[in-house]
Amino acid sequence: MRHAQLPIVVVGGGAAGLATALAMAPAPVRLLCRAHDGRGSASALAQGGIAAALDPRDSAAAHAADTLVAGAQHNDVAMVQWLAAGAPAAIAWLQAQGVVFDRDAQGCLQLGREGGHSTARIVHAGGDASGAALVYALRARVQEAAHVQWRGGVDVDGLLLREGRVAGVRTRDERGRRERIEASVVVLATGGIGALYARTSNPPGADGAGLALGLAAGAAARDLEFVQFHPTALDVPGHCLPLITEALRGAGARLHDGGGHALMAGVHPLGDLAPRDVVSRRVAAEQAAGGRVWLDATGVDGDWARRFPTVLAACLAHGF
Ligand SMILES: Cc1cc2nc3c(=O)[nH]c(=O)nc-3n(C[C@H](O)[C@H](O)[C@H](O)COP(=O)(O)OP(=O)(O)OC[C@H]3O[C@@H](n4cnc5c(N)ncnc54)[C@H](O)[C@@H]3O)c2cc1C
Repeated sequence: MRHAQLPIVVVGGGAAGLATALAMAPAPVRLLCRAHDGRGSASALAQGGIAAALDPRDSAAAHAADTLVAGAQHNDVAMVQWLAAGAPAAIAWLQAQGVVFDRDAQGCLQLGREGGHSTARIVHAGGDASGAALVYALRARVQEAAHVQWRGGVDVDGLLLREGRVAGVRTRDERGRRERIEASVVVLATGGIGALYARTSNPPGADGAGLALGLAAGAAARDLEFVQFHPTALDVPGHCLPLITEALRGAGARLHDGGGHALMAGVHPLGDLAPRDVVSRRVAAEQAAGGRVWLDATGVDGDWARRFPTVLAACLAHGF
């Protein structure tokens, strides 16, 4: 009974934390996050969009089959089928939360194509600013939700343990003040570990803090070897690189080597739209051999400012 009166503590203000907080209604939730808004999350940086079999000619079975091929059959088949089957309902839920996905001239959802997909099934919001649109809408819902208390500027740096169970979190705010917050349940929605690498497209805060907290509390980790290496980021100095969305290759951009030859020729039947690990490995091999890799987007027509505002801004900012 005592536990039932304590809040659920959700750590993280990205898509996972925000969606979890909303899903917990009417149970009281305290959402703790380093940032005061969606910044610092990978979610706000996501460009390309979300895959769902929404076209009447498409199916959840085809989406699942493509996913299994892209995962080199290492996937958890039941989970893939569940995710593919649930994707259209997830898009509808996001729309109900206020996410406005891009539509074509006929008013239908605009479906793009990305690596590993045999058909166009990716929805976008704000062109290549899908994640920012999603975080903005979910954050607005969370702020209106009576059951959620949002607190930004807080770093969770420890889990409270009682009788071998997680009983809350230890926090430190921007002024260094420490607090212990008791919880009925703690959800760590703290994102990934990309920032541990020398160069990354993740935000600097993707430092694996949640993973470290869980391990320190005795949780068992699994599947840590599955880190995604995105094939295309802008090759500029720095730790956090601007990602170049795969949707550009879906729209006709092509990878070339320094001599102007098609990089993916003869590597995979899907060419530039092969699964990400295949393209990334080819790019890495070329660079390891001393070559340079270019993305030729001169063939991509249309309104860049509307379709690819994030990539356009990154290129302009770096003098491309
Ligand atoms: C550049 C880029 C482009 C991407 N494009 C796509 C795409 O097109 N489609 C797609 O499906 N996926 C894409 N992804 C992947 C997708 O964005 C992530 O898988 C997803 O957003 C992860 O959400 P999350 O809520 O788990 O983590 P995040 O969004 O990273 O949120 C983690 C949150 O936890 C907080 N946090 C972390 N540690 C602590 C702590 N100790 N205390 C308090 N708060 C903490 C962070 O501040 C942050 O708010 C992209 C990722 C990147 C980086």
